[in-house]
Parts: sequence; structure tokens; C-alpha cells
Amino acid sequence: SKARVMEKGEESPITFKDVAGLEEAKEEIYELVNFLKAPDKYQRLGAKIPKGILLLGPPGTGKTLLAKAVAGEAGVPFFSLSGSEFIEMFVGVGAARVRDLFKKAKAKAPSIIFIDEIDTIGRARGGTSFFHESDERDSTLNQLLAELDGFGTNTGVIVLAATNRGDILDPALLRPGRFDRHIQLELPNLTERKAIFEVHMKPLKLGADVDSDLLAAQTPGFSGADIANICNEAALLAAHKEQEEINRDDFFNAIDRVVGGMEKRSKIIT
Ligand code: ATP
Repeated sequence: SKARVMEKGEESPITFKDVAGLEEAKEEIYELVNFLKAPDKYQRLGAKIPKGILLLGPPGTGKTLLAKAVAGEAGVPFFSLSGSEFIEMFVGVGAARVRDLFKKAKAKAPSIIFIDEIDTIGRARGGTSFFHESDERDSTLNQLLAELDGFGTNTGVIVLAATNRGDILDPALLRPGRFDRHIQLELPNLTERKAIFEVHMKPLKLGADVDSDLLAAQTPGFSGADIANICNEAALLAAHKEQEEINRDDFFNAIDRVVGGMEKRSKIIT
């Protein structure tokens, strides 16, 4: 989410220490960091690195965060776009944007391209409402496929894409040489929630009664994004009450608020 178009290729300040839990995903993706740091080493040996990796998982599980952490760890520029930006574009504009983005990323290689909500442009063809929208999507998708096919691993560009709807993706995107490597992220378990709380509590001024074990136990089914939200809400509540520190009760109230938001969200969906 929240990925704006970053066409200049931003430097990512995020590293793996900002990503709590997700140990398997981090381990799997570390190979890319090594490659991006020294592509020549791999190219000399003829080693093939995947060019497209699909990050799958529910909303707020850290897909964007992980992609930025790869860029931050490797110290390479991060180019991104979000599928939803293309929905209202005229035919051809989306395709031109994709072409432009790949061109810029190649010029700055080694680099990362991150495509958030790839399902918006990459959902299986046919069965849509608007002919205009679907034309545009097809032309954007075709351009993306052409770009993926048109560069080898020796260009030093790696494309990461994220979706929470892997089931509806056009199979063309998943063919060998395209997004043929998948990393599944899950909602955090108890230990992971504790770790996520601790990452987001680090910059906060906490009272002595705040207990990350307890908070983790109180938040089954919450995503990393929900937990980040709770920490910030708790800080806002404490600030509003002119407190010197953030207390346990502020966190409890923040949980209630975030739960309220989650309930509203699910009413909209269903
Ligand atoms: P969406 O599917 O909604 O796009 P996403 O999977 O891309 O979500 P992110 O945007 O990466 O999720 O997560 C949102 C925020 O939640 C992050 O910026 C971070 O603050 C927090 N967060 C999520 N997962 C983690 C994690 N594993 N460790 C620490 N913070 C996390």
C-alpha cells in the first residue's frame, strides 16, 4: 500500500531490522540482496537470479516493507508503482508509464522495481465490466510482460510485485522467466506480534506498565500494519492527555480504536 510512484528511484532508509518476524521470507529474499550488492560476481559465474518475485499475503503483512528493505540492505534505488494508479488512465498511458519506469530502473541498475497491487493490472483477462478499463489494463499488462521478457538477469534489475489476490492473476504473469518465484507472507503469530510491537515501540516513550507480551497476546489476527497503527494511536492518546509517557491503558484504548476501524473495513468489504 502507500507506494507512490517513485520514478526517480528513491534511496530506501529501511533495512531488515525494521522488518520483524517474517524470518523465512527474509531468508529467501536475502539472496537478492547479495546479488544486487555485487551483480558482477554472479554474472561472471553465469548464475541465474530470478528477475521477478511475487510477494503474496494479506493486507498489511509487510510486503511493501520487505521490498523496501531489500533495496535498503543492498543500497540500490527503489522504483515503484501501484497497480491502482492505472485504473482510470487512458489506453496507452499505463503502458508508457511501465516502459518509462523500466528504462529508468535499467539506467540506474542495480536497482529494484516494486509493483504494488499487481492484481489490478494483472488480473486474468476477460470478465470485466468496463471495456475501456479492460483495454487499458490489457495494454499495461502486455507492456509489463514485454518488459519482463525483454531484459536478462544481467541488467541487474529485479522486479518485486505484491498482491493479496494471487488467485486471480493472469497465468501469463506467472510463467518461467516472469514472476516464477513466490514468497508467501502470513499474518504474524504471537512471537512475531511481540517483535513487531517492539520495533514500533522503539521510538516511543513508554511507561513501566507497558508489556509487549501482553499486547501480543491481546491482538490475535492483527497484521503488522494494525500493530504499527496501535502504537501510533497509543502515542496520540497519551499526547492528547498531556502525559509524560505512554501507558498500558493507552495501548488498550488504541486496540479498541483499531478494532473499530477493522470492523468498519470489513463491513465495507462484505
Ligand atoms: P498492503 O497489502 O495493504 O499493501 P503490505 O503487505 O504491503 O500491505 P506494508 O505496507 O508493508 O504492508 O505494511 C504497512 C506498515 O505496517 C509498514 O510500513 C510497517 O510500519 C508495518 N508492518 C507490517 N509488517 C511489519 C513487520 N513484519 N514488521 C514491522 N512492521 C510491519
